[in-house]
Amino acid sequence: MLENLISSENILAVEKLLAEKNRVVILSHKNPDGDAVGSSLALCHYLRGRGKEAVVVLPNAFPDFLAWLPASDAVVLYDNETERAKEAIEAAELFFCLDFNTLSRIGEASEPVAAVDAPKVLVDHHPFPSDEFGVEISHPVACSTSELVYRLVCRLSGDEAVTFEMAQCIYTGMMTDTGAFAYASARKDIYLIIAALLAKGIDKDLIYRKVFYNYSLSRMRLTGYVLNEKLKVYNKHNAALLTLEHGELMRFYAVKGDTEGLVNMPLQIRGVRFSCFLREEMPGKINVSLRSVDDFPCNEVAAQFFNGGGHKNASGGELHCSMDEAVKLFSKALQKFNKQLTE
Ligand code: 5GP
Ligand code: MN
Repeated sequence: MLENLISSENILAVEKLLAEKNRVVILSHKNPDGDAVGSSLALCHYLRGRGKEAVVVLPNAFPDFLAWLPASDAVVLYDNETERAKEAIEAAELFFCLDFNTLSRIGEASEPVAAVDAPKVLVDHHPFPSDEFGVEISHPVACSTSELVYRLVCRLSGDEAVTFEMAQCIYTGMMTDTGAFAYASARKDIYLIIAALLAKGIDKDLIYRKVFYNYSLSRMRLTGYVLNEKLKVYNKHNAALLTLEHGELMRFYAVKGDTEGLVNMPLQIRGVRFSCFLREEMPGKINVSLRSVDDFPCNEVAAQFFNGGGHKNASGGELHCSMDEAVKLFSKALQKFNKQLTE
C-alpha cells in the first residue's frame, strides 16, 4: 500500500548489521524535539523486541511534554550522565543516527562516537547529509524521521512488528514535525501510516492534548508577552522577528520547551512568509529558529548568517554575540534575501 521509499540495498544492509551486532546506541540531535525523541524511542522498542541491547543517547534534556512517551527512561543524557553515556558509546557495536545529518549536531557526544569503530546507520529527513555515515537512509521528502522509522521497521519485519508503544512514539514524531499535519504533510502515504498507527490502538486526540495542551501558566504568560511586546513585523520584507533576552526568560521562569513553537506564530499574520526567533539561552549565546512558507529557503539564511542549517521551511543556528548584534545580522539577512522574500 505504501510506496517504497527506502532502497532495498539499504534494507539489506541494515538487516545484515542487525544479524551481526548486539549492542546498539541510538543517537539524536541537541535540544531534542518530538521527532528526535519519538523516532529514537520507537526504534529502541523495536530493537529491544529483537533481543538487542539498545539504548538512546541524547546530548541534552527533552521538554517535559514528551516525558509521557513510553520508555523515555531508556534515554541517557550526555550532558547529565556523561560517564554512563560514554560507556554505552564505547561499548557500541552499531550506531543509529536519527533526525540529524551531520555528527556535529550531537554536540560533545560526537567526539567519543567518532572514536568508536562501529558502523553508523543514518535515518533522517534533512537535506545534505555529511559523508560520516556508512548506511545513508536519507529522505528529505519524509515528513519526519519517525515516518522513516515506521517504514524501516515495516520493511524489516512487517507492520505486525509495530507495537502500541512504538505507534505512540511514531505518531508523536510525525505530529510534532508537521505542526499537527499543518505543513510538510501533503503526501497521501502519511495518512496511510496514520491509519496503520490508529489500528494499533493509539488515541491521536489524547496524544495531541498531551503534547500541545500541556502548558504551564507561565508559558502562556510568556507567549502573551512576546506577541504583545516583542514581535516586530518587517512589512517591506514580508518577515517577522521575535526576540527574548536571557533576563526575560528568567522573569517568566521559562523552562525547556516553553518557547517551542513560538517561531511559527508570526507566519499566521497575513503576508508574513519568513519568521525568526532569537532566544538568548545564556548571556551572549543566542539560539536562532527560522521558519518560512512556500519556496523561501530559510535553511540558506541559517547557513549564511546563523552558523546553522536545516530544512527549507524550518531551520536554525547559533550565535555568540549580543542581542543587538543578532538583530542587526537579521536585518542584513533580510536585505540580502529581499528579492526572494518579495517576489
Ligand atoms: P528549531 O527551530 O525547532 O530549534 O529547529 C528547527 C530545525 O532547524 C531543526 O529540525 C534542525 O533541522 C534545524 N536546526 C536547528 N538548529 C540548528 C543548528 O544549530 N544547526 C543546524 N545545522 N541545523 C539546525
Ligand atoms: Mn525531524
